[in-house]
Amino acid sequence: MREYKSIGLKLTPQRLAILEYLKDNREHPSAADIYAAVSEKFPTMSFATVYNTLKALKDREHVLELAIDGGKRRYDPDTVRHHHLICTECRKIEDIYVEFDLRVPEVELKGFEISANQVDFYGVCPECRKIGAKGRRVVSRRNGKAEKAGPM
Ligand SMILES: [Zn+2]
Ligand SMILES: [Zn+2]
Repeated sequence: MREYKSIGLKLTPQRLAILEYLKDNREHPSAADIYAAVSEKFPTMSFATVYNTLKALKDREHVLELAIDGGKRRYDPDTVRHHHLICTECRKIEDIYVEFDLRVPEVELKGFEISANQVDFYGVCPECRKIGAKGRRVVSRRNGKAEKAGPM
């Protein structure tokens, strides 16, 4: 995150608390998560304050708004471009900072010259894999049945 002074926002104690919460936060919290955490310190703070502050920060490119968790927007204080791993079970989001080859086949480029990319990878995190090993086997068996039933 950049220096607060460079944001160009009037920093009220409430806004500062939101910024402090987001600083170095790698959880990719939602507005509700931020509200829950910061309103402990500022019980009079409204959800609208959180929402409006996030919007102001997003407009100033001080946070990234991620639309990768269904309808729930999540916020990332690291605006350096990076990829994400998203757990489809617990909605945890992890960062990937390594560059790797993501070449689009020539035929699919439609004349574009690619300058950047950002990819969301969906899967199941280690914790959920441990907990859900049994449950997921049931799911895949169900899917197997549905596939067989489909074409008939
Ligand atoms: Zn998980
Ligand atoms: Zn991230």
